[in-house]
Amino acid sequence: MTSALHQDLARILGEDGVASDGHTLARYGGDALGSYRAFRAAPLLDRVAAVVAWPTETEQVASLLRYANSIRMPVIPYGGGTGVMGAAVATDGAIVLNLQRMNGVIDVSGADFTARLQPGVILEDAHTAMMGQGLRLGHDPWSRPIATVGGAISTDGVGYTAAAHGSMGD
Ligand SMILES: Cc1cc2nc3c(=O)[nH]c(=O)nc-3n(C[C@H](O)[C@H](O)[C@H](O)COP(=O)(O)OP(=O)(O)OC[C@H]3O[C@@H](n4cnc5c(N)ncnc54)[C@H](O)[C@@H]3O)c2cc1C
Repeated sequence: MTSALHQDLARILGEDGVASDGHTLARYGGDALGSYRAFRAAPLLDRVAAVVAWPTETEQVASLLRYANSIRMPVIPYGGGTGVMGAAVATDGAIVLNLQRMNGVIDVSGADFTARLQPGVILEDAHTAMMGQGLRLGHDPWSRPIATVGGAISTDGVGYTAAAHGSMGD
């Protein structure tokens, strides 16, 4: 028996775009911040979202956000979940907006020094796509094989090449 929230989101995303079982909620309820490093904030890591949603298209993201806003429901964007500051930790009853299926490289132009990427593209894949056009990502965190473009932009991550190229935002 799924909740009304689950069913409403399934109408937007399709049945395979939503999950609310205990295993999935636990899997995507937080990032790489362990309770042993959270100290007094550790109890905050025990919160449980109501549902995890996997959009595949921009319009689905817009529809989900319109819907969540209409019922005043918090939405937690989720990339690779490699953050170590607890930024992707769910709040009780929230929607986890998992961007991992929006992982397309739209285009890369070596001539224009531009790349258009969906937010769930893994940094390693972004780098590989750019190398094919004679470019490089210029952001090289240790989490590059897992972290996403959206998460790196959100955190303005700083990697090993930051001295040369600056942060992800740069
Ligand atoms: C082993 C390891 C090594 C690491 N090395 C580095 C390093 O060298 N340099 C560094 O800077 N960091 C490092 N990190 C931290 C982490 O990898 C970075 O913060 C990374 O940028 C997070 O990306 P993510 O996709 O995993 O984001 P998540 O952890 O999923 O989310 C991080 C934040 O971004 C938000 N977010 C995610 N996707 C989106 C989106 N599409 N739109 C809007 N908001 C979004 C989330 O809500 C959350 O607030 C490391 C982590 C680990 C576990």
